[in-house]
Amino acid sequence: MRTTREYDAIVIGAGFAGMYLLHRLRDDLGLRVRVYERGDGVGGTWYWNRYPGARCDVESMFYSYSFSEELEQEWEWTERYPTQPEILRYADHVADRFGLREDIEFSTSVRGARYDGTTDTWTVVLEDGRRARAPFLVTAVGCLSAARVPDFEGLDSFTGETYHTGRWPHEDVDFTGKRVAVIGTGSSGIQAIPVIARQAAHVTVFQRTPNFSVPAQNGPLSPDEQRRVKADYRRLRHAARVSAAGVVTPPALGNALEVDEELRGAELDRRWAAGGTAFMNTFTDTVTDEEANRVTADYVRDRIRETVKDPDVAELLCPKDHPIGTKRICVDTDYYATYNRDNVTLVGLRGNPIERITPSGLRVGGVDHEVDVIVFATGYDAMTGPLNAIDIRGLGGISLREEWADGPRTYLGVAAAGFPNLFMVTAPGSPSVLSNMIVSIEQHVDWITDAIAHARRAGIARFEARREAQDTWVEHVNEVASHTLYPRAASWYMGANVPGKPRVFMPYLGGVGTYRRICDEVAGDGYRGFTLTAAAPARSARPARA
Ligand code: NAP
Repeated sequence: MRTTREYDAIVIGAGFAGMYLLHRLRDDLGLRVRVYERGDGVGGTWYWNRYPGARCDVESMFYSYSFSEELEQEWEWTERYPTQPEILRYADHVADRFGLREDIEFSTSVRGARYDGTTDTWTVVLEDGRRARAPFLVTAVGCLSAARVPDFEGLDSFTGETYHTGRWPHEDVDFTGKRVAVIGTGSSGIQAIPVIARQAAHVTVFQRTPNFSVPAQNGPLSPDEQRRVKADYRRLRHAARVSAAGVVTPPALGNALEVDEELRGAELDRRWAAGGTAFMNTFTDTVTDEEANRVTADYVRDRIRETVKDPDVAELLCPKDHPIGTKRICVDTDYYATYNRDNVTLVGLRGNPIERITPSGLRVGGVDHEVDVIVFATGYDAMTGPLNAIDIRGLGGISLREEWADGPRTYLGVAAAGFPNLFMVTAPGSPSVLSNMIVSIEQHVDWITDAIAHARRAGIARFEARREAQDTWVEHVNEVASHTLYPRAASWYMGANVPGKPRVFMPYLGGVGTYRRICDEVAGDGYRGFTLTAAAPARSARPARA
């Protein structure tokens, strides 16, 4: 019979969250920790997303850990926005520098996890049937890790090569001389299309919803600029932590329609030229007021019409069915200009969906498009997908998947009622995908580490979110979203990209600064909203703290 291995904490995933969790729980709390990771290396999303043009749209100097001043000072970034290979090198460096690999089991998927209420432990079952047990289970599975290829008819009949941006091979893919179809124009497609177009014989882009994209204005990062940021890191990191989105941006001008028209245009021009997502922060009310939103949206549509020479193609590229910012804003290098190339064709799918995949290509509106390669830039079963892929069973065998059948329900986006001693990094109900992920990850990991340290110090065996606290939090998350334009878009934030998925706005829109304050207050208030139950024999007496 196989033995069950025992740990103090089990972590699922060795991306940026899992690595930092391992460091905090093992090196600061002295726990025996096991991390299970399905890839054969660290880095999470940056391990899988190796598609051409993949890079982060948070600036390098801020898309990095802040927990170690030495790490922060010694690492040198080369460009304003880091490429995927550079971020992966950074993740590898962190893993080596902090000796993380020895406690990570690579190429190992977790099939299920079950809470035993009699021992207050989680038993994790791996794909190969092995088991491990620990009092605490932390999921660090990422929000965008369940890659999705839509269920196109005839998919298996295609005889050429197929790739998904989120599952890109480790070897370079050579598009030279090939006819390539790219399906999808979200952040991944928008980054990949210009790069693939420079190599391939022909690229046909299949677009369902046009997206708003702002130029990155990427470039090399000068040693002077790095020195300046490094010298000021403590202040800048603090500013990011208390900001709305975990990044430091120039302050907004005010409400769009209250700003003088000339000044409005000049500021949009200035931010467009400066590049990056700070463009979205030009006015305070862009995602809360329809008229205000139109100011920024019209500006981008004008830039598209100005850039793309063929007016019909430009019109097809202009987003008109959702307010700007309510689907994730994209950041690009030469995206719209790519449609001026002779070897790029745009096919609109609105009202004219892909009928089927054929052995030699795609059929749309009765027209066959013959290609050698199909690139699926079709996105993810976001936020809930990675958690629902694991059979997580809480008290009395209740299933997380079933609990979330009508949409995810969490307390603070970090815990769920009925699932004691389970913590979830950047889960639905936290700012997560609406922020600089590393800022949100560090905040969650620090909070979870403190909670576990508290439980161990106070002899608490069971740390469980209360259902009423969860209900109130879910209501608050929904309430905040309802005051914005976000629910107007059929976005993956709403689960709208996956047929049959409940339409619920999943992330918390209150801002990372506000959210951090709420989490700190909850902890400072003896973990308000959680029931903390002492270990037996004191157990029978009463909850230790509530
Ligand atoms: P995505 O934003 O969900 O885009 C998927 C694309 O595929 C959309 O254009 C979608 O159209 C299309 N699509 C899906 N199903 C389709 C179907 N059946 N037929 C035709 N088209 C279909 O996915 P993503 O581009 O991979 O980006 C996901 C998220 O990852 C981003 O929003 C961002 O948060 C993150 N990301 C960040 C970066 C960065 O930092 N620069 C880069 C890449 C990704 P619809 O819009 O109509 O659904």
